[in-house]
Amino acid sequence: MELDGMQVPIRYRRNAKARQIILRIDQDTDGVVLTLPKWASQSEGLALLSEKADWVVDRLRCLPGRVLFEEGAELPYLDEPHLVRHFPEARRGVFRQDGEIRVSGGYEYLPRRLDDWLRKMARAEISDRAYLMAHGLGVKIERISVRDTRSRWGSCSPTGCLSFSWRLIMAPEWVLHYVVAHEVAHLVHLDHSAKFWAVVNGLNVRTDAAREWLNRNTERLQRVG
Ligand SMILES: [Zn+2]
Repeated sequence: MELDGMQVPIRYRRNAKARQIILRIDQDTDGVVLTLPKWASQSEGLALLSEKADWVVDRLRCLPGRVLFEEGAELPYLDEPHLVRHFPEARRGVFRQDGEIRVSGGYEYLPRRLDDWLRKMARAEISDRAYLMAHGLGVKIERISVRDTRSRWGSCSPTGCLSFSWRLIMAPEWVLHYVVAHEVAHLVHLDHSAKFWAVVNGLNVRTDAAREWLNRNTERLQRVG
């Protein structure tokens, strides 16, 4: 659909439990998602979209730029901007040098290799800290997984499995440190009680600053890759 000269892709969802038509920005397509309750038709959804056209166009124009895994892309590594460069002959996999992330091999494999490498680095950076903190607290980590979790930066299961977003490798070290501390502290208290926060704050973190940083930068980091 065209709104104010802008092509806006629309995805429809049906949700029997929805009580009204819900319109939200779709980060994946730079468009919108219209969630329709049982009683609503697509045209009723479109009517809401036209009504909110100004808001939608404003929001879409304000989205941070998308950063793709390609030659010349600039992406943060522990908050330092790095240029992605293709070094076909380097035979060194992926490596970091002179403010660049260099990727060897065929260009068609660059996105995949870069993605794998970022996940590997995230895992290393996160695991080392997590095991050290867990050891200090006398708790046991069952398993650590690193994935592309859209809605959260980390989570902790009652069985002691920790999960983190690979995107933390793009955040400053002290922010990554806070997210790891938060999840490890859940191994002691699986809630957000005062006792839980006392454990977090004992792990040498800047809780408030880190939470604020995440609030301000989540959208930007979600748009990489
Ligand atoms: Zn929590």
